[in-house]
Amino acid sequence: MAVPKRRTSKTAKRLRRTHYKLQVPGMTTCDNCGEIKLAHRICKSCGHYKGKEVVGE
Ligand SMILES: [Zn+2]
Repeated sequence: MAVPKRRTSKTAKRLRRTHYKLQVPGMTTCDNCGEIKLAHRICKSCGHYKGKEVVGE
């Protein structure tokens, strides 16, 4: 089994972790109101989808 030659430095470890996403994948922000919403779903806060479709008021 391969073993790391050197211990990963604190900086290298921290830089790698900057790529970790803060939010769960599949979540996006609404184009209309900026609320966090599920991707490919109507925004439950303002009812918009793909820019302008209004569903329910
Ligand atoms: Zn919205």
